[in-house]
Formats: sequence, structure tokens, C-alpha cells
Amino acid sequence: MSVFEKERKSMVKKQIYKRGIREEKVLKAFESVPREKFVPEDQKHMAYGDHPLPIGDNQTISQPYIVALMTDALELQKEDKVLELGTGSGYQAAILGEIASEIFSIERIENLASNAKKILRELGYNNIHIKVDDGTLGWEDKSPFDAIMVTAASPNIPDSLTEQLKTGGRMVIPVGDLHSQDLLKVTKTKSGIEKVNLGGCRFVPLKGEKGWS
Ligand code: SAM
Repeated sequence: MSVFEKERKSMVKKQIYKRGIREEKVLKAFESVPREKFVPEDQKHMAYGDHPLPIGDNQTISQPYIVALMTDALELQKEDKVLELGTGSGYQAAILGEIASEIFSIERIENLASNAKKILRELGYNNIHIKVDDGTLGWEDKSPFDAIMVTAASPNIPDSLTEQLKTGGRMVIPVGDLHSQDLLKVTKTKSGIEKVNLGGCRFVPLKGEKGWS
């Protein structure tokens, strides 16, 4: 077993399982995706650390536990179609792609999107589709989605996104100001939306028409 494989196993046990995430599909996805491939060369030795890491362009790959908490909250089924806002490194998209059927991921920074596409192609993910755009408007022609994952901090819950969720669909989104946010799980019901606060968090800003300017 390689050093990275050992570190990955230990990360899943100590940072994810021990903190209460028990869903088999989620744990298996984290055991399968090589996180070291998604971080820059000079960060690889810290790929399995219990913290976010810089990925260039002033952006970050989130802490493994946060990626796991958000993934778990989406309650994904294998036939689900998922929208992700903020492709970043592509790591979260790969985790989603291990569990669900089709992943549509939007990134506003061209350089990050093209790096992520390249890595995901090399790893053989053909169920992940990435485009460069303002994700705050969603991806209308691929909607409705079973689940939406927003991996950047939003000032509110954009209507454009709840409109693109199926009834019964789930969305995870950090909502707050530029310094701190609450991680919200939003479920769309026949009569509106239900919100559950999963706790405090800190993300880079979601910039766009329905986000921060
Ligand atoms: N999910 C990523 C990963 O696994 O590496 C981490 C994402 S990083 C915390 C947030 C990302 O959201 C950044 O790459 C940023 O450029 C992107 N972003 C911010 N505003 C956006 C928008 N309106 N549309 C799409 N992407 C956006």
C-alpha cells in the first residue's frame, strides 16, 4: 500500500468516521478518490491533512470533513442527478461522481475548470460535466436536479437554484456574510422549503449575479 493510500485510509477513519459520518456509500467514495491528485504539486504532502488547502487563483479545496458532511447531507441515491457550484479542484465533484449518476459542475475561473477537467478525465470519470459560467444562475437546460451542492459562501439562498431542484430535492449551501456562514441543508417540499442548520463554516465567496459582486 502506498503512503497516500495509507494516509487516505487514516483520514477516512479519524477525520470522517470518528466524527459521526457512517453512510457506507460516502465512506467508500472517500476511500476511492485519490485526493493527492487534486492538490498542487507543492501541497501534495499535506493532501490528507485535516484542513483546506490552496489550489491557486485565491481558491481552496475544502477540508475533507466538510466535503464529507456536505456530501452526506445530500442523501444521494445512485440514480441522482447533481448540480455542483464551484468545481475548484474537482475533488468534490469526483466524490459526488462516485455516488450519484450524473454530476454537472460549474466553475467561474477558467483555469481551475480546465485543470479539474483534465484530472477527472485522467481518472476516468465520464459522468462529470464541467462548464465555465456564473453558477448562481444554475444550469437550467440540465435541470431539475435531485441535489445541489454549493461550495462557496452565498449571501442568501438563490431562487434560481431552488427553482432548479426537484420536489423532495436537497441542497447544501453556506449562507452568511463574507467572514462566516451557516451551512444550511435545504429541502424542497410541495409547500416551499425546509432549512436545517448544520453548523458554522467559512468558505470563499460565491461571486456572481445572485451572489457577491
Ligand atoms: N468544490 C471545490 C473542490 O472540491 O475543490 C472547492 C471549491 S472552492 C471552496 C469554491 C469555488 O467556487 C472556487 O473555485 C470559486 O472560483 C468558485 N466560485 C465562486 N463563485 C462562483 C460562481 N458564481 N459560479 C461558479 N463557481 C464559483
